[in-house]
Amino acid sequence: DLPVIYLVTPTYRRPEQIPDLTRLAQTLLNVPAVHWIVVEDNSALSPAIASLLKRYGIPHTHLKAQMPEKYKKSKLKPRGVANRNAALDWVRSNCKSGVVYFADDDNTYDIRLFEEMRFTKKVSMWPVGLVTKVGLSSPVVNDKGVVVDFFDGWMANRKFPVDMAGFAVSVQLILEKSDVYMPYVPGHEEDGFLKKLDVSPADIEPKANWCTQIFVWHTQTKSNTPANRTTATGKRYKGTN
Ligand code: UDP
Ligand code: MN
Repeated sequence: DLPVIYLVTPTYRRPEQIPDLTRLAQTLLNVPAVHWIVVEDNSALSPAIASLLKRYGIPHTHLKAQMPEKYKKSKLKPRGVANRNAALDWVRSNCKSGVVYFADDDNTYDIRLFEEMRFTKKVSMWPVGLVTKVGLSSPVVNDKGVVVDFFDGWMANRKFPVDMAGFAVSVQLILEKSDVYMPYVPGHEEDGFLKKLDVSPADIEPKANWCTQIFVWHTQTKSNTPANRTTATGKRYKGTN
């Protein structure tokens, strides 16, 4: 039997939510042995998402976990952190083996990515396209297949300057480090999490042909406010396209 990929998707209500989740659902239809954990940043489960999950027949768990009130007012928000931490709790109570991957709802995934991560022993990593203005975030791998450095447009003194979409962690490691969660520190969620998991650079399994291929992109869905609507400030919206 194939190890199961527990794919954790934080999501929140906005006009692009259902289109983004539809695209991701249809990607996952092409992936065997996947369990989709969709965690809404919402006070109640959305019926539209429940019916989307039911319609596609992908094994799934539908949860909710709201961003704590104190972070909602800040400009830089720890987006998706409460959701991912709720999923970690679910994994710890329900799973014995497999791999956990944090898959945001708006990214673009080549289905070949999932077979790269499936047999992760501890932590696997690979490049992510379209991250920051430089357009790439990736581990740097030497000619022995060892991760010796990282390339990212925003290093910010991070030990692991990687994107959320650029790594997967085995369920076994998540069970071993039973008190490790993602920190509520915008920009440092990945680094904080991987440091607390006590990952050393030598533990990292470089995937995607030693990090030479891009199988995931940090795309962002542009909102498209209809021209006949007014904005939140009451001003008439002038279309830009
Ligand atoms: N998200 C969330 N609550 C929020 C904002 C974002 O649950 O208030 C989710 C969002 O659906 C996505 C993830 O958190 O799956 C990361 O958010 P986003 O894609 O907006 O961040 P970015 O692309 O800028 O990293
Ligand atoms: Mn995003």
